[in-house]
Amino acid sequence: MTKVRYENDIQTEVLKDKKIAVVGYGSQGHAHALNLRESGYDVVVGLRPGKSQQKAEEDGFDVHSVAEAVSQADVVMVLLPDEHQTAVYTESIKSNLQPGNAIAFAHGFNIHFSQIVPPEDVDVFLVAPKGPGHLVRRTYEGGAGVPALFGVYQDVTGNAAELALAYAQGIGAARAGVLETTFQEETETDLFGEQAVLCGGLTSLIKAGFETLTEAGYQPEVAYFECLHEMKLIVDLIYEGGLENMRYSISDTAQWGDFASGPRIVDEDTKARMKEVLTDIQTGEFAKGWILENQANRPKFNAINKKENNHQIEKVGKELRELMPFVKQPLQAKQSKQKD
Ligand code: NDP
Ligand code: MG
Ligand code: MG
Repeated sequence: MTKVRYENDIQTEVLKDKKIAVVGYGSQGHAHALNLRESGYDVVVGLRPGKSQQKAEEDGFDVHSVAEAVSQADVVMVLLPDEHQTAVYTESIKSNLQPGNAIAFAHGFNIHFSQIVPPEDVDVFLVAPKGPGHLVRRTYEGGAGVPALFGVYQDVTGNAAELALAYAQGIGAARAGVLETTFQEETETDLFGEQAVLCGGLTSLIKAGFETLTEAGYQPEVAYFECLHEMKLIVDLIYEGGLENMRYSISDTAQWGDFASGPRIVDEDTKARMKEVLTDIQTGEFAKGWILENQANRPKFNAINKKENNHQIEKVGKELRELMPFVKQPLQAKQSKQKD
């Protein structure tokens, strides 16, 4: 099995005397900055004026412009949206990096697809938490962590891997386990996972099931429970103990249905299309499309987003969740309440 590193395997000295600039204070940014500070590191935050800046200041950070934060720091973690990183890097980061500094990322996209070409005299590493930023923070506060991948793209000081590991430790990831990867592997597997399985695969599966039932005349509320609400309950069982644990808990009828019908839904054709999706990621075709979509101000992204938000499953779900106070409030609603 591949080596998984935990807190005792990591030397943190290499990062202790360094100043870390966390650039961005969104989902990942706020979690990294707060966790690092509570782990004893010296953190400044780099931002443009706006809501995030206000929030970081309220949380007690020294907040500077991106250029100013980068010029003060030894280690710069770039936690801006991937599609804005190149512009901010070119304008405010690049010329403020000193030889021997380190620049770091939580996702390899811009380095791997050459949107950012870092100077040759800095370390470049990756610490990619395998979970949403709000969980990186919440689990840390609870004494645990979210697992992370680390990788080194460029090592000029000879310490890049140690720095990455110490950083992973600082955000709490080493409490859960840290695995070594490369920028290429992290980028390609992350994109594939979210497209084929976690986000794209899952939302399409849920909607197709819901539509099949409602088009056959069943009540949308019942279809919602069967195809969406119960998903979490099933996934929790899988998360805790694998497929076997979930199958132990469901009825034998459900398990027989799983064996008999599952492979009719996700079959060899589906897998062949998954391979096409992976090929588009590996060849840069997906990256090119996403970069161009952003350059065009996201016409397709916005149109699809609007249509998706108006899907019947979203309307039924909203009504039903209001009747289920035990279902946690969405992060979005919570955040806007905090911000107001
Ligand atoms: P968010 O969209 O949540 O946050 C982005 C932050 O960047 C905000 O604080 C925003 O501030 C700031 N920002 C945006 N544009 C600029 C700009 N031009 N100048 C200065 N600041 C700016 O990003 P995420 O946390 O989701 O993503 C950050 C990185 O982490 C990405 O590389 C992503 O792939 C990676 N990642 C994200 C995960 C997640 O959980 N979301 C999981 C693993 C990796 P403002 O309020 O001013 O807009
Ligand atoms: Mg991703
Ligand atoms: Mg059932």
